[in-house]
This record gives sequence, structure tokens and C-alpha cells, in this order.
Amino acid sequence: MKLKPFKSNVIIEPFRIRSVEPIRFTTMRDREKLLHKASWNPFLLKAADVLIDLLTDSGTGAMSSRQWSAMIESDESYAGSSSFYKFESAVRDITGFKHVIPTHQGRAAENILFSLLVTDDDIIPNNTHFDTTRAHVEHQGGQALDLLIEEGLQPLTIHPFKGNMDTEKLEQAILKRGKDNIPVIMLTVTNNSGGGQPVSMANVREVSRIAREHGIPFFIDACRFAENSWFVKIREEGYQDKKPIDIARELFSYADGCTMSAKKDGMSNIGGFLALNDDDLARECRSLSILTEGFPTYGGMAGYDMEAVAAGLYEALDEGYLRYRIRSTAYLGDKLVDAGISIIQPTGGHAVYIDAKHMLPHIPPLEYPAWSLTNALYLTGGVRSVEIGSVMFGLQPDGSEKPAPMELVRLAIPRRVYTQSHIDFLADVVIHTYNQREKLGGYRITSAPKVLRHFSAELEPLE
Ligand SMILES: *Cc1c(COP(=O)(O)O)cnc(C)c1O
Repeated sequence: MKLKPFKSNVIIEPFRIRSVEPIRFTTMRDREKLLHKASWNPFLLKAADVLIDLLTDSGTGAMSSRQWSAMIESDESYAGSSSFYKFESAVRDITGFKHVIPTHQGRAAENILFSLLVTDDDIIPNNTHFDTTRAHVEHQGGQALDLLIEEGLQPLTIHPFKGNMDTEKLEQAILKRGKDNIPVIMLTVTNNSGGGQPVSMANVREVSRIAREHGIPFFIDACRFAENSWFVKIREEGYQDKKPIDIARELFSYADGCTMSAKKDGMSNIGGFLALNDDDLARECRSLSILTEGFPTYGGMAGYDMEAVAAGLYEALDEGYLRYRIRSTAYLGDKLVDAGISIIQPTGGHAVYIDAKHMLPHIPPLEYPAWSLTNALYLTGGVRSVEIGSVMFGLQPDGSEKPAPMELVRLAIPRRVYTQSHIDFLADVVIHTYNQREKLGGYRITSAPKVLRHFSAELEPLE
């Protein structure tokens, strides 16, 4: 008997589930009380009161049995633990950078790097600064400059690499401000705050060329380097037959270093690193790391965390995993688009971003339309998402408020956590909310801290 080869277009979760975690159903009345008690800020809700938690894909993924078993074998020595050497060797193998400094998460790497490089009145160009990068630049008295290509700011424009930096604007900025006021050029892959959109290899190469021409260090904010490598593979000429790991290696080869949150494509619940080639800068980074993070062979991580990251970095680059990961995010995007909802297109890597400015034109930017939608999704179906709009970015360093360029609601998909039926349910929640969008109203901030205010701000609905 000769059977025909089998081929299905269904992309299944490339894992089976051996440990499960219950999730809790609440009623709409419960959720109204809970959100009121949380000062209308989803960050202040208890996770147990959330049914599907899409607040972030950071540190919320499921680890593999291989990661768990590596963790049991960890070495918790204070200095020179074998877990550190495994971690260092994985990071070096993938990034090619000479010095690997572990940190407890991505922002700690940013803190070390920017404390040493950025002084008053410096400018730091990036495609789009993530909120913690921006905050660290500003904390050092510097100015965070976003130089995204025009298409990246137009939610509905289709472009394969909407995370690209506008390299003409970069050259103009260098001419205008002088290279002495630009201590580092950053590029965020994928561009989290701009919709999880990828950066092309050609763009990385060009930014690198400009940086080198002017003698400015070039660092990659590498949190989603594996997802970016997949987009390069499927969308950029010449990469179809390359392995994601080789694409990642090429990407890093154009840079002088990177900051990394292992809570993303490190497939771990905590961890990060700063990796770089410059010996002198690395020495200074290690000294500062001892002050703020810990001894340079653990840097804020336990031995078992370093084990989880060392294994996780390779798992994030697995082709079967990446195909499923990127396709399952697009599956949600497609469902929302089919229902007439405006999202950033094409769908990004780790999240779907709903364009709340487009959905809720009756709510002015400084009454926070994306925040309003975020709360409505929780009230409707117990789904937690996050606002990436004027609450997150509206507060200026001088204390004034300015609307953010976009009002987005990000539905971030934790890695290997939710199944297709969760996503189907979630799409129903969003569509149900969309169908009564004119009932949603604006919000007012009643109290907020001066930096990263969205994490702890208190709000109230406007009448
Ligand atoms: C998450 C993230 C960071 C910060 O990392 P943490 O681990 O949360 O401190 C920096 N940049 C980007 C693009 C991120 O997504």
C-alpha cells in the first residue's frame, strides 16, 4: 500500500501540555468592582482576577521540560558558576559579542549602558525607544530620538519592515547635533512600541554603516531578535534558505553590542544581559554591574535563571517554534481585520496592536482612547491588555502633556501559553466590544508618578 504524503495547512502548537494552571472566571459585575478598586488601571489588578492575560509577553511564557531540567542542574556558586559559563557561551555563540554581562532584566542592562555613555544634552537615536529605554535616556539627562520610517507611523500601510529606521533622518540628526553629542545609536528588533514590527537586515546594515562612518557605537535592543530573524527569513530576499540562528548571527555581526531582556526571546521568566565588544567599556560596565546587579558571573540572576536562558535562547530560534509563534499571532490579527477592526498591519511578532484612535474617534487623545478600550476589554471578557498611547508616552520631561503619535491597545501573546481556543474566545471579546464602541468614554488621571506613570497611575472614567 502506497499512501499519499500528508500535508495540512493547520499549524498546531508544537508542544504538548504536561502541567496546567487553572484560570478563573468572573462576572461582569465582579470585574466592574475589581477595576474600580484598581483605580481603573489594569496594571493594579490582581492576576487571579484576569481570565486571559495579554498585559505583556515579558516573562510570562511557559518554559520547556528541557529548561526545567537544566535549572535543576544549576550551579549556584557566587563566583564562576558553571551555569554562568553555559549562559555566556550561548550568548556568545548567538551574538558573537566578546563580553557578556548578566543582568536581572533588560532595563538593568540599559541602566548600566546609559549611565556610562549618556550625559546631559546627548541625543540617542532609535527606531522607536521602548518605554524603559526612553526613561533611562531621559533619566541621564539625554534626549530619546525616534527615527522610525514614515510607514511605521501609519497603522494601515502595509510594508514588510515597518520597524526600519529612517536612515536619512539619522544622517541629518548626526549632521545637526554632531557625533560628539550622540554616544550610541540604538535599533530595537522587533520594534515593540511601534507594533512589534520587524527591522530588515538591509536596514541594520545601513544603520551600522552610518554609525561606523561617524565612529558612533551601535547597539541593538535585542529583546525579540529571534522573531525578527524569522521575519527576515520569510520576507527579505536572500534569506529564505537560511536558518534563524544564522540570520540572528548576521544581525548581531553589524553591531557593537546589545541589551537584552531574556523575558522575551530568552524564553525565561526573568533575566537579561548586556553584551559588547569594547574591552574598556566592558570593564566599566562590569564595575557598575557589581554596584547595582551583583558579581559579574551572576549579575542579578540565580544560577538556575542563567540555565533557563542558555537553553531558552536556542529554543526561541527553533524553526518549528517560530513558524507557530508568528502564525498564531497573525491568526488573531486576521480575525480582527475580518471583523472590520483596525490594527497595525501587517500583524507584528509578539502582539496584535489595535488602533484605538481609529476605533474611538469620539474620545480625544488626552482623554486616553486606548486606555478606555483596554478597560472595556477587561470589563467585557476578563481580558487584560495594555495601552500604548498617551498615558504611556504623553507626559513630557517638563511636566506638560502631549498626545502620543499613536493610540494603541496591545494584545501581547505570552510564549507557549494560550491555545487556539483561548485566542478564538479573545477575538470574540474584542469584536463584542468593537460592536458597541460608541458607548466607550474617556478617562482622566487623578494621580501619577513622574516617570513610567502608566504602571501606577490612578484614573477615573469621565462622565
Ligand atoms: C521588555 C523590553 C525592554 C526592557 O526589558 P525588561 O526585562 O522589561 O526590563 C527593553 N526594550 C524592549 C524593546 C522591550 O520589549
